[in-house]
Amino acid sequence: MTHTAFIGLGNMGGPMALNLLRKGFAIKVFDLSAEAMQRLAEAGATVATSAADCVAGADIVLSMLPASHHVEGLYLGENGLLAQLPKGTLVIDCSTIAAASAIKVAEAALAAGLRMLDAPVSGGTAGAAAGTLTFIVGGEAADLEQARPLFEAMGKNVFLAGGHGAGQSAKICNNMMLGILMAGTAEALALGVKSGLDPKVLSEIMAKSSGRNWALELYNPWPGVMENVPASRGYSGGFMAELMLKDLGLAEQAALACHAANPLGALARNLYEEHVADGHGKLDFSSILKHFYRD
Ligand code: NAD
Repeated sequence: MTHTAFIGLGNMGGPMALNLLRKGFAIKVFDLSAEAMQRLAEAGATVATSAADCVAGADIVLSMLPASHHVEGLYLGENGLLAQLPKGTLVIDCSTIAAASAIKVAEAALAAGLRMLDAPVSGGTAGAAAGTLTFIVGGEAADLEQARPLFEAMGKNVFLAGGHGAGQSAKICNNMMLGILMAGTAEALALGVKSGLDPKVLSEIMAKSSGRNWALELYNPWPGVMENVPASRGYSGGFMAELMLKDLGLAEQAALACHAANPLGALARNLYEEHVADGHGKLDFSSILKHFYRD
């Protein structure tokens, strides 16, 4: 039987690991937060005492951490996990990080006789809970096939974007567009409400008109317009604004590296920079509405 180690049990990793358990995978889990591990222990996961303990005896290692420096810190260096894993182990990092960082870790993994996929996800915390995530994979097709049962237990779409780092490149294009769309949706809703419109009626109109988009239709930023979205629970429990700021920064770095213009992505990054500086970094990213509408 395959033994899977799962490291990083936050807003995304927690529900993803729960879905693996529900689908019958044996998993051993680790997070720096004891509370996060407790939830998984109650659901039947084996709890590790450290990252090294978590990966001992695992055939597949999965990680879901916040940013590039967390991933490099976990895997690289003398005490990093790559130095401890037996040859042939498949390492899958699902965090959203810089493509350059994913390539650096993959090259170190390959040099150590391991296999590696970057496999960032899209679909939000609701998609993580429902097991409907999209996996955007970079690496070797044969390694993706070995990982496919795990991806299919946590998601419903799996794409091979290209070689190592390509999953991250595609994910960053997506999230740059998401940041722009969320800011634009919030701006339009604030304009409508200030013009005397009901935000729910305006959302229904735009959802059937040419302004329709994912942020408006599935993740509406106006409190009370939709049930079960962060805006309707005080912007808690979703995709933190500081993580969107990180992704818009990654998009800007990527654009600089390949001489692409990203004026709208840069504007969205500036809006999120101000929003985070205003103290909203831990709120869901749809709280950018507060930037346009102060009640
Ligand atoms: P989060 O902050 O809720 O969770 C991260 C978890 O990693 C935390 O529980 C933290 O304790 C743990 N952690 C950090 N360093 C660790 C280490 N060295 N060892 C063990 N555990 C460690 O973040 P999240 O929302 O779950 O996002 C995770 C990644 O997924 C990010 O890269 C984010 O950009 C991406 N993402 C998030 C969403 C979303 O809607 N939240 C959607 C798609 C992708």
